[in-house]
Amino acid sequence: MRVDLINTGTELVLGRTVNTHLSYIGEQLFHAGLRIQHQVCIPDGDVIGRTLEERFPRADIILVTGGLGPTSDDITRELTAKLLGLDLHFDASVAENIRGYYAVRNRPFGEGGRRQSMVPEGAIVLPNGYGTAPGLYLPRTERNPHLFLLPGPPRELYPMFEDHVLPQLRAIVGRSKVTSREWKFCGLGESELAEHLEPPLSKIPQLEIGYCAKIMEVHLRCLGEEKALEEAEAVVQRVYPYHLVSDDLRSIEEIVVELLADRGHWVSFAESCTGGMLAHRLTNVSGASAVLAESHVTYANEVKTRLLGVDPVAIEDHGVVSAPVARQMAEGALTLSGADHALGVTGIAGPTGGSDAKPVGTVFIGLASKRAETHVEPCFYPTDRETFKWRTTQRALDLLRRRLLGYPLDEA
Ligand code: ATP
Repeated sequence: MRVDLINTGTELVLGRTVNTHLSYIGEQLFHAGLRIQHQVCIPDGDVIGRTLEERFPRADIILVTGGLGPTSDDITRELTAKLLGLDLHFDASVAENIRGYYAVRNRPFGEGGRRQSMVPEGAIVLPNGYGTAPGLYLPRTERNPHLFLLPGPPRELYPMFEDHVLPQLRAIVGRSKVTSREWKFCGLGESELAEHLEPPLSKIPQLEIGYCAKIMEVHLRCLGEEKALEEAEAVVQRVYPYHLVSDDLRSIEEIVVELLADRGHWVSFAESCTGGMLAHRLTNVSGASAVLAESHVTYANEVKTRLLGVDPVAIEDHGVVSAPVARQMAEGALTLSGADHALGVTGIAGPTGGSDAKPVGTVFIGLASKRAETHVEPCFYPTDRETFKWRTTQRALDLLRRRLLGYPLDEA
């Protein structure tokens, strides 16, 4: 199926707003086994009508974002109706929703509300739970492909897309047996992953493979019929059982929270160079309160000693960025919190503070657990500070994931 995406908004072509709808919708469509074949960004105004007219014969599905609001430059609805020769009728239930939305905000319904209540004949209304303008779906006719008119604000678009657009799209492509699956791996690079997975995966008939490298993780995408995807799953599980983080693109922190919760385990953190990013990432996940006991950002040496019990002699002898200090930070946090696991990190984010023996990017990660030996490892991530913190937390969370699953902690 040929899918077109038309993003409208003068602010997009002026570079004032980044077109995040392209990446969001591109990713969502993939879950429905669809992909964008053509995309344009156009300003508000008449060009919307001309663009639709030009794309109608070339697409099976057209998605338009923006221009459904109450202001005079929001004319997607009117231009589409005019182009298709459809009457717009006042939809009382849409008006009722908009009236309710305005009422709780003490705003009048007015002309804007009335315009947004107008629905082209034959259109299916896609409810907007977070704003006023409903989305509109015009099923395919001889004149037009399947046409979705969707609101611009992301907080309105995202829930509408997931709750109302995806089900319609799945119904449209229903007879296609091709679906998709994505796996997330941590602890190895894209080329290494491809080198070992490509030979067995390429033997599976009718399977389309794609890779996407992110910071410290790689995603593998496969498109194919269910049988081919099942075979791909078996290959992935066999070749990289320990590196496979999720088979639905859930993040490593989501997986860690789930694993801790399943076991009724608690974790605590003692962070130096990551400045709280471990706690930040974990607390981005709903349910973190049931697994995160406490987290300490112990930047100064004196605090590492006073709070975590790090031996000043160890700092003196080995340096604060060292394996013994990472070990003592993790073990100190474990004792202090009474948690089941604790991670301690100490490193040199740079750009200053490096030496020949310990260049910028050096970091030690310690993982202490109640029922296992403490593991300490050196890592080296010479990069900018933000990426350094991300990579360090990624590896630390992966160590914890592996320990929870009883997997080997090394990279193999
Ligand atoms: P409303 O006018 O009621 O806000 P609308 O459906 O008419 O909604 P637009 O006016 O086109 O939508 O966009 C509203 C806001 O949504 C924009 O100012 C911008 O902040 C955001 N937005 C619109 N399109 C995009 C996009 N493609 N990517 C990211 N943000 C967008």
